[in-house]
Amino acid sequence: MRDKIESIDPVSGEVIKSYSLPKEEEIGEIVDRSREASLSWGDTSLAERSEYLGAIREIVVDELENIVDVIQRDTGKPEVEVMMSDVLATLELIKYYENNLEEILSREKRKTPLIFYQNESYVDYEPYGVVLVIAPWNYPFQLALIPTVTALAAGNTVVLKPSEVTPYTGEMIEKVLEQADLPSGVFQVIQGDGEVGEKIIEQEPDKVFLTGAVETGKKVMKKASKNLIPVQLELGGKDPMIVFEDAQIDRAVKGAVYGGLANSGQLCISVERLYVEDSIKEDFTKKLIREVKDLDIGDENSRDFELGPMIREEQIDVVRDQFEDAISKGAESLTEWKTEGRYLFPQVLVNVDHSMKVMKEETFGPLIPVMGFNDEEEAIKLANDSEYGLDASVWSENISKAKRIASDLETGNCYINDVVKNIGNPYLPFGGAKKSGIGHYHGPEGLKCFTQSKSVMINKNKTDEINWFPYTEELSETAKKLIHTQYGDIGFLRKIKNLLELRKKLK
Ligand code: NAD
Repeated sequence: MRDKIESIDPVSGEVIKSYSLPKEEEIGEIVDRSREASLSWGDTSLAERSEYLGAIREIVVDELENIVDVIQRDTGKPEVEVMMSDVLATLELIKYYENNLEEILSREKRKTPLIFYQNESYVDYEPYGVVLVIAPWNYPFQLALIPTVTALAAGNTVVLKPSEVTPYTGEMIEKVLEQADLPSGVFQVIQGDGEVGEKIIEQEPDKVFLTGAVETGKKVMKKASKNLIPVQLELGGKDPMIVFEDAQIDRAVKGAVYGGLANSGQLCISVERLYVEDSIKEDFTKKLIREVKDLDIGDENSRDFELGPMIREEQIDVVRDQFEDAISKGAESLTEWKTEGRYLFPQVLVNVDHSMKVMKEETFGPLIPVMGFNDEEEAIKLANDSEYGLDASVWSENISKAKRIASDLETGNCYINDVVKNIGNPYLPFGGAKKSGIGHYHGPEGLKCFTQSKSVMINKNKTDEINWFPYTEELSETAKKLIHTQYGDIGFLRKIKNLLELRKKLK
């Protein structure tokens, strides 16, 4: 087990800070503290939790400059990227839960079927207890804070394990939340790598929420399964973008460049496969190349740019491997392969097909492969030919056609005539289909995911129930009549007559 991790500025390569990793006993103590705190935190009212969310939101705004600075040093991203995707998206979601928490999690009255005459039913949404949030490095603020805040809002205490690649942001989140004066033990951070993550799971948190790679998802699930700990997984993607000839072409070109290259492609819902209708493919690709070549690539001396470095150095090798595999199988590169330090210049590949890694495996870097398609049917077939199903986009001015295609795509999320921003709509659940994940967060469903529903029934009857012992022939007859009346087609008048009879018996 490593004893320390380092935050490295991907622009200068300089070590920003070292973090010593906790020993096993310390991990146990942290989880114990979390469990103890969960007893009273789970009892706080929804209104009180909503006030805490408001406080966190205000602190994030007050600390904006510091937050942006820390994330930029940890990741080398452009300021706009940090502001829009890490901070703004997080604030929007906090505000949504702050305003809707009570409505979503309050006791819910449910209907009770006639067979349970004189009964009432309701559902309560109760916290799990201790939630472990394991975060990735690509959006180290948003993807750590959103699940954290959601779990807290649902009444759980949280142990956050930030990515070992961006511990500096993890520490900053800890300091920001400290200012919200949450009761002791309600939110704690444990720095460390995957091994530390596994050690925390061994301490039996009540739920694990992971954002990370598919292989990590499998390991986390395996570890959690030993104690039947529920897991929620937000995993990788190979998102298709489908452009029809009736789309607004210039807008679609810019959408593809943004979707494929924002955060230098280190984006789970990136445009990973670009399918363009054959009739416009050539023109589209020419325009795409022009836009790509126009992008400002950062360097050591500038902080004013569009594409930053690879946050994790090894990512360059992943992209290179896919690029070389594609070229060896007949793809053509319309750009020059070029790296400067951790900066990887954006790549566009044509003549690609589904035998190539670049069309099958997650790239997570600045590479856009472009492939043609003939008609709607082929576009859907190509898009669905993937083990992933995170996000997708369909581009056409014919909205009913686009909606029809969206319905046929095997994906957890889909955007018509735009890319990426859909993850920022807090009203919508977000999560992956197929190997892209298990469960959804965001939206009302996402908040409920951090709760266990408890169903309660109240019986107001004062006498014995007819289904109780003793079993008699009369009861058998009544049951038969009930089955025919309730579920069979016996005609209206007979139904009413039977119901009146049954009502007398049930009283
Ligand atoms: P990763 O899987 O390497 O690491 C994610 C986190 O899991 C880190 O904190 C890491 O320390 C931890 N971890 C690793 N092994 C572990 C183990 N055995 N037990 C417990 N924890 C372990 O992912 P990454 O490289 O940080 O992020 C990139 C991946 O995340 C990509 O595949 C990307 O698509 C995915 N991602 C998905 C979403 C989404 O919303 N679906 C969002 C962002 C990133």
